[in-house]
Amino acid sequence: AKRDGRGVVRVFDESMDENIRLRRAIEGGLSQAIAKGELSLVYQPIVGREAFEVVGFEALLRWNTEDHGPISPAVFIPIAEESNLIHELGDWVLAESLKVLAEWPGQYVSVNFSPRQFRRHNFVGRLVESVQHAGIDPRRVQIEITETAIFDDADRAADTLYKLRQMGFRIALDDFGTGYSSLYNIRKFALDCLKIDRSFIDGMGRERESAAIVHSIIHLGRALGLGVVAEGVETETQLQALRVAGCSHMQGYFFSRPVAQERAKEIAEARFIA
Ligand code: C2E
Ligand code: CA
Ligand code: CA
Ligand code: CA
Repeated sequence: AKRDGRGVVRVFDESMDENIRLRRAIEGGLSQAIAKGELSLVYQPIVGREAFEVVGFEALLRWNTEDHGPISPAVFIPIAEESNLIHELGDWVLAESLKVLAEWPGQYVSVNFSPRQFRRHNFVGRLVESVQHAGIDPRRVQIEITETAIFDDADRAADTLYKLRQMGFRIALDDFGTGYSSLYNIRKFALDCLKIDRSFIDGMGRERESAAIVHSIIHLGRALGLGVVAEGVETETQLQALRVAGCSHMQGYFFSRPVAQERAKEIAEARFIA
């Protein structure tokens, strides 16, 4: 029994080691990714519910490594988030996504900020400096943050969002419904829209619970005068159900996958998705 116990411990240790090795490899690779030109952004259109007019694009980070091919942001962002690397990546993403705005006739770019980026010292000042440096109207920049970023220190977050909104930035609450938001608290935050997490859209046709959550978020958004963006719309059935429910905007493979800059420009110029 003793030997078995040790065996179990050893196997566990080895998989831990493997995990740590992998994290270190990713950290090491990421710290050079910018210099090696391995990062890029793709853009996914966000469309209005009636005419599918393209109102903006979400910028999504891609990392194509020389040695191991593409690695998903769902894997490397959380690792970057544990160190200051997230700031380096975030600065690159912001500067890069502000550049594409010049090519689009009027749409906004929606940029993801992790909780650590949002809480960084002088977050507002840095953003303002970036848009001024790029000569961009802040109204064409949407900041996507998650509930986790704002509910931990709600008063400070409310203050930050208020300042950003005063400067003209748009604010989206991302992955809404998956965090700890209290509906009571949501009023104190200066927001433009709620983004319904893809998991609820995915479950909508199968489970009454998901459909109920989607409906509640849409009602809440409307009651508070906020836009509501459904993420991960993949089918016509989902689209029709969301339309009936009164969802104002949609995003997902049904309309377009995230695309490279050149294609995003064509979509932006066409203004509508057929
Ligand atoms: P997110 O912000 O919730 O982004 C939406 C994710 O859903 C993206 O995955 C997008 O490609 C995917 N998606 C969009 N439409 C559909 C659909 O119809 N079906 C399916 N199955 N998926 C769809 P992606 O690009 O892999 O990004 C994953 C996460 O990584 C993002 O989730 C975000 O949390 C993070 N991330 C990506 N880029 C950045 C960035 O520049 N900065 C930060 N801080 N985080 C980022
Ligand atoms: Ca997002
Ligand atoms: Ca999201
Ligand atoms: Ca998500």
